[in-house]
Amino acid sequence: MSGQSHWRALLELTTPHRTRLSVMVGVLAIAGSLPLVGPLLIASFIDGAESGASRRFLLTVAGVYVGLGVMRQLMSIAVAWTATDLAWRVTNELRSTLTRHVLNLDLAFHRSTSPGELVSRVDGDVTALSDFVASFAVKAAAALVTLVGLVVVLLIRDWPVGLGLAAYLGIAIAAMFLVRDKAVDEAATEQAATGRLLGEVEERLTGADDLRSNGGGSHAVATFQRASAAVLASSLGREKQGVALWVFSNAVFVTGGLIALAVDVALLRRDAITLGTAYLIFQYTQILRAPLSALADETERVQRAAGGMVRTIQLLDEESSIRDDGTQRLPPGALALDIQGVTFTYADEEEPIAVIDDLSLQLEAGRSIGVLGRTGSGKTTLARLLLRLVDPTNGAITLGGIDLRNVPLEDLRKRSGVVSQDVHLFGATIRDNVTLFDESISDGRLRAAFAELDLVEWIDGMPDGLDTELGPAGSGLSAGEGQLIALTRLFLRSPDFVLLDEASSRIDPTTEQRVTRAIDRLVRGRTALVIAHRLSTVERLDEILVLDAGKVAERGRTADLRDDPTSRYAALLAVGSDVPLDEVVA
Ligand code: ATP
Ligand code: MG
Repeated sequence: MSGQSHWRALLELTTPHRTRLSVMVGVLAIAGSLPLVGPLLIASFIDGAESGASRRFLLTVAGVYVGLGVMRQLMSIAVAWTATDLAWRVTNELRSTLTRHVLNLDLAFHRSTSPGELVSRVDGDVTALSDFVASFAVKAAAALVTLVGLVVVLLIRDWPVGLGLAAYLGIAIAAMFLVRDKAVDEAATEQAATGRLLGEVEERLTGADDLRSNGGGSHAVATFQRASAAVLASSLGREKQGVALWVFSNAVFVTGGLIALAVDVALLRRDAITLGTAYLIFQYTQILRAPLSALADETERVQRAAGGMVRTIQLLDEESSIRDDGTQRLPPGALALDIQGVTFTYADEEEPIAVIDDLSLQLEAGRSIGVLGRTGSGKTTLARLLLRLVDPTNGAITLGGIDLRNVPLEDLRKRSGVVSQDVHLFGATIRDNVTLFDESISDGRLRAAFAELDLVEWIDGMPDGLDTELGPAGSGLSAGEGQLIALTRLFLRSPDFVLLDEASSRIDPTTEQRVTRAIDRLVRGRTALVIAHRLSTVERLDEILVLDAGKVAERGRTADLRDDPTSRYAALLAVGSDVPLDEVVA
């Protein structure tokens, strides 16, 4: 990323807000010029007093000076207001663009990027940008106006002095920019290190139970320490740059003051300037101090913003391998499924092997099929293919006669419903977990759904019924109960194509019965693929598919397979239906 293009990208973001931007520029132009007026007034006061001007003149000058002070305060409020407003508008759009973009990225991206890192990129980086616009960019622009104005005023009053000051400022500012550009790299390194640290923490906290029970605690602490050390090292690097810049800007100011005093003395001796002008020249180099040191103090913001912008653009450049350019809508009603010679390989694996291997499967509209197979046989991968979270490496999948790649993703997601292997619940009431915070769904409708799925007894057995509060991430419910919530969630949406990936954890017999009954009701009249980890789940489904290393090992009507003693399904049944399948198949 070149030094300029990320700033240009930032400027492009403000394009829809041209009016606000021009108002801000206007306000800044006034605010930036005001500091020049004070010294001018005092200079004419000094000259007036020296040359015996009227008392009235001097009082007027003094009065205007006081008015100017008030005006400067008002202008600084106006600047803060317009700048913050613009900054938030621009960056909020960026936040939602990024969020949408990230949500649309494919599985490979999300596997390689932890949620914590995404938070730091979507929120942290963008906040750095809005800070930058609202604070630094505005101060820098006002300072620039002040600097230019100062040179112009001096050029008018005494052009050789004005020229000298212009040359001196040119060199000083160019030097500052050179130092600053170096600092940008340091900031990007620090941001990246912080992102990794957040990612670590997030992952470790999510897996805290597993880590603790498996004695992985010390390893977690060690990696945390390494990540923290990297943050420390990179932030020290950035601090050093900041301090260097601060020292440099102070040196600029002190040198400027010294030069101005020397010039003043020389010119006064030759009577080339009035005392007022001498004051003005010196005072104008003093004006530099405030903006320059404020900017130096805040170069950190520039560094953060530039680092953030670079990483934001990188993120926006990430492309999903799933192209959403289909235009054919799915036909109404239940949808027939047709999988034709599909092979799938996870591309990000070191030694890619086909997880789904030349698999073909037809399922008539409205029928349900249970998928069995040992762990790692490719069941979840098959589900991902059907939802187009990944595309087949070879072969094609059609739903309702249309190739999935030709269906707009939005249509596909609307018509299909999924309960994944690890149901995500929120720290909210059961009601909110089922409706997913959709307040338009009435309690009556909710109760009807629970009744349809035969879950009224279960929900009434909860401490506060629908109002029962779940802990963070839905803690307080068993895995089976989580499935019940997810099933009801799905039932409310009434999708035409249903995909269930049953949790592989053990569940108690009562909950298991409830899950089985709910699934039974849910798949009725819908095309459904149910990945099962328990035989009891598939017993009532129309058909059965046994998957082995990505290939169809067995396929048939449930009743036929049950009655055929040579079938794998019959063999499984012989072992017993209350045992989790993984143990049986193995
Ligand atoms: P389980 O019964 O444990 O849920 P499964 O049949 O659902 O197993 P899959 O999750 O489809 O199995 O995994 C099949 C194979 O693909 C496994 O070897 C797994 O390691 C690999 N795999 C799964 N997901 C990914 C992924 N996102 N990237 C790379 N490889 C993956
Ligand atoms: Mg799975």
